[in-house]
Amino acid sequence: MKERKKLPRLPMRREDDPNYEPEIWQPDWQCFCCKDTGFAIYAAEMFIDGYNEERDKFPVCQNPGCEAGKKFGQVPDLKYSLDWRLDAAMCAEADQTKREEWREWARRQQQKRQKVEIDLSTITKNLRKGSRTPTEEMEARQKHEAVLAELNALYLPKVSVG
Ligand SMILES: [Zn+2]
Repeated sequence: MKERKKLPRLPMRREDDPNYEPEIWQPDWQCFCCKDTGFAIYAAEMFIDGYNEERDKFPVCQNPGCEAGKKFGQVPDLKYSLDWRLDAAMCAEADQTKREEWREWARRQQQKRQKVEIDLSTITKNLRKGSRTPTEEMEARQKHEAVLAELNALYLPKVSVG
């Protein structure tokens, strides 16, 4: 047999696998009260009457287990800009509420994704059938692209929720 130079491997990218399922984006902060910033903006909205983010003192996160707010106590310049009135229970409640909101959001995204994927597989099957008029073919392709775009949109981070 004649010696041939072998072709290099061409590994399938994970994204190219038809069964590839990217994760629904989830926040990676530890504290849902302050998003690890130390400023308990969310608890402030819940517990300070008419809280104004731009004009009011910075509410310090006191969520048990969250260390992010502790650093502010060591900055003398911040002394008069901080609001320490939110307590551990308030921050814990804000953390819990926000966590549930995120869980619910992820669950809805998952449902949407499943629905879109079912649409997509139906369209893909139709596309493969062939033997159709050029108009039908074009319509099927347009629908396919629209569903793909919808699917892609589901994986973009929704920062507005946080
Ligand atoms: Zn915190």
